[in-house]
Amino acid sequence: MGKPTGFIDYQREEAKERDHLTRLKDWGEYQGRLTDEQLKTEGARCMNCSIPFCHTGIDINNQVSGCPLNNLIPEWNDLVYKERFEEALDRLLMTNNFPEFTGRVCPAPCEGACTVSINDDAVGIKNIERAIIDRGFEEGYITARIPKRRTGKKVAIIGSGPSGLSAADELNQQGHNVTIFEKADRAGGLLMYGIPTMKLEKAIVERRIKLLTEEGIIFKLNTDVGKDVLPEDLKRDFDSVIVCTGAETPRDLNIQGRELTGIHFAMDYLTKQTKSYLDEKDTPLSAAGKNVVVIGGGDTGADCVATAIRQGAKNVRQLAITPAFPNTRAEGNDWPSYPNVFREDYAHKEAKMIFKREVREFLTETHAFIDNGEGHVQALFTRKVEEISTETGVRFEKVDRGDDVIPADLVILAIGFVGPKRPLLERFGVELKNNRIDAEYQDFRTNVKNVFAAGDARRGPSLIVWAIQEGREVAKAVNAYLTSEKIEQYA
Ligand SMILES: Cc1cc2nc3c(=O)[nH]c(=O)nc-3n(C[C@H](O)[C@H](O)[C@H](O)COP(=O)(O)OP(=O)(O)OC[C@H]3O[C@@H](n4cnc5c(N)ncnc54)[C@H](O)[C@@H]3O)c2cc1C
Ligand code: SF4
Repeated sequence: MGKPTGFIDYQREEAKERDHLTRLKDWGEYQGRLTDEQLKTEGARCMNCSIPFCHTGIDINNQVSGCPLNNLIPEWNDLVYKERFEEALDRLLMTNNFPEFTGRVCPAPCEGACTVSINDDAVGIKNIERAIIDRGFEEGYITARIPKRRTGKKVAIIGSGPSGLSAADELNQQGHNVTIFEKADRAGGLLMYGIPTMKLEKAIVERRIKLLTEEGIIFKLNTDVGKDVLPEDLKRDFDSVIVCTGAETPRDLNIQGRELTGIHFAMDYLTKQTKSYLDEKDTPLSAAGKNVVVIGGGDTGADCVATAIRQGAKNVRQLAITPAFPNTRAEGNDWPSYPNVFREDYAHKEAKMIFKREVREFLTETHAFIDNGEGHVQALFTRKVEEISTETGVRFEKVDRGDDVIPADLVILAIGFVGPKRPLLERFGVELKNNRIDAEYQDFRTNVKNVFAAGDARRGPSLIVWAIQEGREVAKAVNAYLTSEKIEQYA
């Protein structure tokens, strides 16, 4: 334990954010990182409690508590306090392939399970993680680790999101020859084209892809498996195939007026912005000068709000059918489960600065889009609802009040994802269950011989940290399969 009284002596300190008005003028990351002094004192705040729930990654009431990667958090906290930085980096990399991503965009379930958080602010674990890995890159500790021997086994991975990348990293280090097939023009999956640059600069993703390439992983970009390469070819040419195609099918809102122009899915909107930014072109789908309504109260919706503000939207509103979370943990949401409490995301803070009001409207259901007479959306009919608890969950009922009309020239649907796209899976003959690829955790095998699955395509829409975790685990299963003397037992 670093400093026995650290949690009493020091208050949590946040990494400095870039000034709101400056950061709105560019697409750079809004968050800074801890200074070396802050890193040390934040590490000192760790109590090294006898049972560190922060690294357990267990499921409580269908929500994760603690780090799904089982990151060795108390160990690196202690090491950064003692300024044994290189050892902290070694410990971090033992469990997490890509801390530069989680240290920026993970919602940090570890912090919700931190013992200090029972009656004080949690240790700033995520900020510590980012500071360790960023320094690791800056000080030249992260270099290509080229495997010393090759097994001669070939693995094809479909999809270069965090699950595909971590599976590739693990299998490559085990000496297998890994090829990643990616239909997009850049690798990274949602790290590249989902999460906006303000949260994760794309140079950070590209730096990792470059490193993985130097280590021997082959990336075949602009290659849509099912069209450009056939599943039969992969099954024939590779010893094993892993499907990491994500949960790409968006949830739609099939209400009156859905066919109007001006209504787009969040991923379409966000991808166009990032791609245009990287290609140094204007986006074909801009919110500039428009009344924008984002439907969906989650993080994807918040990313759309932040994007619309940077594009110069005239007005932005974000509608959620669900109620706002309470300011403190509600009954049943006790420590160490993930705290479902009201938060102000970066996007909401920025929106308040610009529009001088909270842009989120809760318990609001959209039930029709209104035509401007030329087939384009001009407004939404919304109504207020109340949440009713039932034996099986909750439902929403409209309250006795008239409709509201909200002007909108651009509507963005950010109401989640249904599951993986089907045509590829049908062509493979891979079975689905509840809109997810049917493959048991820890086994990860689909019903098709030699074909495994991981990440959002198997788990359902989730988080980067889970995708990395699934990638690591599926790699273990594939390695066991490839190195088994009796490969037939898996058939
Ligand atoms: C807008 C947005 C913001 C998010 N923000 C966060 C966040 O801040 N923090 C967080 O933890 N999580 C966030 N998430 C969730 C997180 O990004 C996902 O859980 C994670 O990326 C899933 O990883 P994956 O590897 O399973 O799939 P993905 O990242 O979806 O990658 C799948 C890849 O497969 C490729 N692919 C699909 N089909 C084919 C094919 N036939 N041939 C070739 N390639 C194919 C796709 O092009 C894609 O590159 C966000 C999600 C979205 C949509
Ligand atoms: S990966 Fe996420 S949950 Fe794990 S230590 Fe980092 S911030 Fe916490």
